[in-house]
Amino acid sequence: SDFTQLGLIPELLETLKLLSYATPTPIQSHMIPAVIAGKDVLGGAKTGSGKTAAFALPIIQKLAKAGPRKAGSQSVSCLVLVPTRELAQQVSDSFMRYSQLIKPNLKTLAVYGGVSTNAQMQSLRGGADIVVATPGRLIDLISSNAIKLDKTQTLVLDEADRMLSLGFTEELNELLAKLPKAKQTLLFSATFPEEVRELTSSLLNDPVEVQL
Ligand code: AMP
Repeated sequence: SDFTQLGLIPELLETLKLLSYATPTPIQSHMIPAVIAGKDVLGGAKTGSGKTAAFALPIIQKLAKAGPRKAGSQSVSCLVLVPTRELAQQVSDSFMRYSQLIKPNLKTLAVYGGVSTNAQMQSLRGGADIVVATPGRLIDLISSNAIKLDKTQTLVLDEADRMLSLGFTEELNELLAKLPKAKQTLLFSATFPEEVRELTSSLLNDPVEVQL
């Protein structure tokens, strides 16, 4: 199979050419059409499987088709929750790389702890299309009214097992309660202990399962 059969818009096919991605990985072939179709997805994929492009490409497409974000709000269209700041940086870099030909530009921000909140608060003025965040810092920014999740339409939980094993359960539940009920959710985890299975069944609605 090749990328032209997955339902991607021309700008994204062009980007993949620029990046010399010739063939989709198995998780990309399975996931991209499902995410474009609006389905929830449960992914059992590890790092290195191409999972970041598998969710970033169809999410970028969805945002591009939705048209420009309304100015003057603190809203975020797509929220990606990750366990660590390294992953937040990596995933936001991927979103920027894959959306480089999309016009108008999508605003992507990484939000994580261990650095000053001031710069992040400034960047969040006017909201963002995509925010990639670690749970603790995101909660701080919500408390200071720098960010709102009430209009978020797409949620990604990346490395859900690591997020829970690092002790983010309470933060995660607090954040999930702030999100609209009607949304598209994609959850990735390398392992599926009881805690992850509970989260999955409470959060995902008739998900497409991709176990690779
Ligand atoms: P990921 O598992 O998403 O972190 O991706 C692992 C690495 O593979 C990253 O460096 C991507 O840039 C690269 N990659 C992802 N999908 C493809 C593809 N279809 N063809 C070539 N490289 C890819």
